Amino acid sequence: MIAEVILESSVKSLNRIFDYNIPKDMENNISIGSRVLVPFGRGKSLAEGIVTNIKDNTNFEVKDIAKIEEQSLSTEKIKLSRWMAKRYFSNISECMRLMLRPGTTTKNFANRMNSKTALFVSLNIAKEQVIKDIEENRVKSEKQKTVLKYLLENGTVLQAELIEKTNVSRAIIKTLEKNGFVKIETKKVERNSLASKDIKRRGNLKFTEEQEIAYSKIEKSIDNNEFKKFLLYGVTGSGKTEIYLQLIEKIVESGKTAIMLVPEISLTPQMINRFIERFGKEIISVLHSKLSVGERHDSWERIENGEAKIVIGARSAIFAPTQKLGIIIIDEEHDSSYKSEMAPRYNAKEVAEEIAKYNNIPLVLGSATPDINTFYKAKNAEIELLKLTKRANNSSLPSIQIVDLRQELANGNRTMISIKLYKLIQENLKNKKQTILFLNRRGFSTFIMCRDCGYVAKCKNCNISLTYHKKEEKLKCHYCGFEEPLIKICPNCGSKKIRYFGTGTQKLELEINKIFPNASTIRMDIDTVTKKNSHEEILRKFNEEKIDILIGTQMIVKGHHFPDVTLVGVVSADGSLNIDDYRASERTFDLLVQVAGRAGRENSPGNVIIQTYNPDNYSIQYAKKQNYEEFYNVEIKLREQLRYPPFCDIIMFGISAEKEDIVSKTSNELYNNLHKKLKEKNISVNLLKPLPAPVDRIKNRYRWRIIMKAKTNNEIINVINECLYDKEFLKNNARVIADINPMNMM
Ligand code: ADP
Ligand code: ZN
Ligand code: ZN
Repeated sequence: MIAEVILESSVKSLNRIFDYNIPKDMENNISIGSRVLVPFGRGKSLAEGIVTNIKDNTNFEVKDIAKIEEQSLSTEKIKLSRWMAKRYFSNISECMRLMLRPGTTTKNFANRMNSKTALFVSLNIAKEQVIKDIEENRVKSEKQKTVLKYLLENGTVLQAELIEKTNVSRAIIKTLEKNGFVKIETKKVERNSLASKDIKRRGNLKFTEEQEIAYSKIEKSIDNNEFKKFLLYGVTGSGKTEIYLQLIEKIVESGKTAIMLVPEISLTPQMINRFIERFGKEIISVLHSKLSVGERHDSWERIENGEAKIVIGARSAIFAPTQKLGIIIIDEEHDSSYKSEMAPRYNAKEVAEEIAKYNNIPLVLGSATPDINTFYKAKNAEIELLKLTKRANNSSLPSIQIVDLRQELANGNRTMISIKLYKLIQENLKNKKQTILFLNRRGFSTFIMCRDCGYVAKCKNCNISLTYHKKEEKLKCHYCGFEEPLIKICPNCGSKKIRYFGTGTQKLELEINKIFPNASTIRMDIDTVTKKNSHEEILRKFNEEKIDILIGTQMIVKGHHFPDVTLVGVVSADGSLNIDDYRASERTFDLLVQVAGRAGRENSPGNVIIQTYNPDNYSIQYAKKQNYEEFYNVEIKLREQLRYPPFCDIIMFGISAEKEDIVSKTSNELYNNLHKKLKEKNISVNLLKPLPAPVDRIKNRYRWRIIMKAKTNNEIINVINECLYDKEFLKNNARVIADINPMNMM
């Protein structure tokens, strides 16, 4: 018999099927989905691959499969990989990789993650017999007695623990084994990030009327075993999570499993604890990038063997090897982290839809500020819309005021804090309530510039301005890590008038400490959360130690529930308004509504101040009204006029190389190929000529891009794949990627 094998490789020319002979002694152990080692290339080198089909004959002269590995993929996952490879213009094996157990895909076999094992000791005879033997002095050594007594009390224990706790040598345990009292076995030790959690169980809340209606609609499609998409559109605090919990409860009770995706950043202990309270940690498996590889490996294994019934994780948890999947929930569905920016450049929401279709199960998307594309589909009956209009615990939505910073400046206030915000902070401090100050800053805005000649310090390798880091007095590139000491004199004109631009969180914290010297502050941004868990640590401190003011960027916006926060100040709302992206208004609206939603979530009413230089902008005006639907109505008209998603897809081709002439040649060749093939098939799309990208050099590589606007269908996707995987085209010495509806257009 012959196996068709897809080799593990990101090399585009290897993205095809290779035939291998299945040796007689392997025939019974191999199936579609088996992970195998096969001879490939010159010499004795082996390559890894996955069997995607088994057949009787081949026209080629083929070699034998060398080895079958223990892991395998389901036929569902193989089908999914094929679908993804086409849709996201990538190699099939790059997609399969996401579906293999974490830690098992490195090329270096010695470094691969395995299940961890250790020696365990337990009694080998009945307890009563042991007690008798001790009493009747058949065991004489005191040390042996200590060991037996420990085992009587503790059951099966790690040998290492036994030695430590009883202070005996290994030899003593060995003797006991030889005399038949105990047995020593090798068993699996589980690395589980939840192991240390000790949390009281809690029951369901009684649904509000709105929750009840939403729940029963989804319940119906669970009962009917049908694929159906729902948008649970509910204001912040409207009890969406409670609905998720009860849906999952129903699924688990019927012996099925559930996947719930949340943005990486909102996978906080607070959120996970809510699930543990309801279901206990035994059946929950958490997957995200902050876990160790060992923990992720074991989480995956617990899902594979059916122990874990509920998977909670970030984007890539959608690939978890669940058995009998019953529902997929995607919370904060508008979040950009569901789209991968690395190959394969998949969108987890689209992948979830494929999986839900395959399994005939509901897909529930939840948000207070849905993705414009999702809401459009809901309006057009492609998704069933479920609304929650009120907060579940009856707390009112915060009141929001806008402060015009131009006016503030005209009145002579040169600080970052307006008079109005200043007064409210002061009042909050007096009342011992907490405040959040939010800076809508796109990472890199603290650049430095010469006021005389306009010189801006840029990275040598990337055409990007360097970011000023006050603490180290350094300028750093956030793309490649290049750094240099802060310049004091302009290298261009010699002027000493170097100024820092942008309003960083550090600067804000300094200013707040000056204005409110008695207030405690804590800062959360990219610089303070680089260490593992530091993000959670900051939030925990803020919450438990009742720090007066939390200062932060985008990171503080999502999902957190702080009962004592009654004031949110948006120090500048404009950071995401002026970016080169058609989603600028949507991003701004989302951010403002989400951050406002942190205020007054319990008994005390919340206040929000939005400071801006663009008080009339519609995304800011509708955020003030917290009216998503009005915002949507304006935004969707603009999208239609300008033909942006959902009225078309945007496909971005990125071409890069170290030499600029290679980039331009490859770009033009790709453009011409696409143009020609589309014309042959009479497909009309909007294909823009190749141009240097907005950031035209990163890490010493020149970057160009081609943009295509089209309502994609299979035909267009096929043409693109044909062009990208064309043998002649692949001879170009450039890196070429294609990204459908990318999050980042830079
Ligand atoms: P969301 O996920 O929409 O932000 P949550 O599910 O976190 O909302 O609910 C917000 C708050 O309301 C939580 O404190 C939650 O315990 C409470 N809550 C949710 N549903 C109910 C209910 N049916 N009755 C009372 N309180 C509820
Ligand atoms: Zn200068
Ligand atoms: Zn750089």
